[in-house]
Amino acid sequence: MVRTETDRCPGVLAVHQAADGGLARVRVPGGALSAAQLDVLRIASADLGDGRLELTSRGNVQIRALRANGPRELSERLYGAGLLPSITHERVRNVLASPLTGLDQHSRYDVLPVVAAVDRELCARPRLAELPGRFLFALDDGRGDLAGVRADVAVRAVDEREALLHLGTSAVRVGWGDVPGLMVAAAEAFLDERDGEEWRIAELADGAERVLNRLGLHATEVLPTTSATIEAGQHGSALVVTVPLGTLTQEQAAVLTEHSNEIRITPWRSVVVPAAAAGQLEAVGLVTTAGSVWGGVTACAGQPKCSKALADVRADAWQVMPGMRRDGRRVHWSGCERRCGKPAGDFVDVLAVGNGYLVDGEPM
Ligand code: SF4
Repeated sequence: MVRTETDRCPGVLAVHQAADGGLARVRVPGGALSAAQLDVLRIASADLGDGRLELTSRGNVQIRALRANGPRELSERLYGAGLLPSITHERVRNVLASPLTGLDQHSRYDVLPVVAAVDRELCARPRLAELPGRFLFALDDGRGDLAGVRADVAVRAVDEREALLHLGTSAVRVGWGDVPGLMVAAAEAFLDERDGEEWRIAELADGAERVLNRLGLHATEVLPTTSATIEAGQHGSALVVTVPLGTLTQEQAAVLTEHSNEIRITPWRSVVVPAAAAGQLEAVGLVTTAGSVWGGVTACAGQPKCSKALADVRADAWQVMPGMRRDGRRVHWSGCERRCGKPAGDFVDVLAVGNGYLVDGEPM
């Protein structure tokens, strides 16, 4: 494969210049933030950006509209908060975890400590700074909720002793103690196998087999394809909270930090907090029950934030979604055909075309 594009995944130091200013993406391995860290992000966005916190499908946080001196000041604040542990590896710390791991009865194994170990191993190996910014690790606690995230290197818990290390659906059973080393070794094997142009293992011909071979492993099992959906509402001691259009306001972020010691960002741009916080969260526009019109609704940046956008998709989504038929499907609004941030799998495709919208290819 010949690719002429450069890796433009933004980070904190490599800020993307959007129509509304600098866009910084802060990696949050496992999506787990302490209340103090979320507060640092909230205040930084108010001081240096547009005041909002965008949640991403990889459990990361974006701050937009950074002023000229914003990136430097932001990086200093994040470093102080433990959110920028590596300058060289910041854009490759893409590690997803089952957001409810350790919090309800469906969790076969608490994978968050393993996420921390993977992150440490990743940052400790200088060569892995070369990984593409879109290379993704995922740790599923056994419930199958990360089946649709298309990770490059993933594990799914079998029980407290073992996990399935898998590349795509090619899986091999390993002990938990070996997981961090094997996951980063698989990433290194990908760098060895690629010819410099591929960004993902799936782009390599026979990529899974070649990477496993380099590790001296052979797939012995096929990963179960069952995919669990995590709805908003109470799950054990935790509450899954829908964040409309995946964007936290200052007020919403402040209430989250007041009522939770730890906040987890999900790959579905919702958050997980302790169940006791529900009343206060509803009061600031967050949604704590299933079945809301905002559950499973996403939108790209749109006008005026993106120069390619043909419409202000977020403003239009606010107007249209309450009356829109969707038959339980997810919905994604896009300002142009790139469809940034679209969910994996099936969704209602709402596309701006300049003189209105197409919905699944038909005029709205
Ligand atoms: S989908 Fe198009 S309009 Fe939306 S953010 Fe991406 S490039 Fe911009």
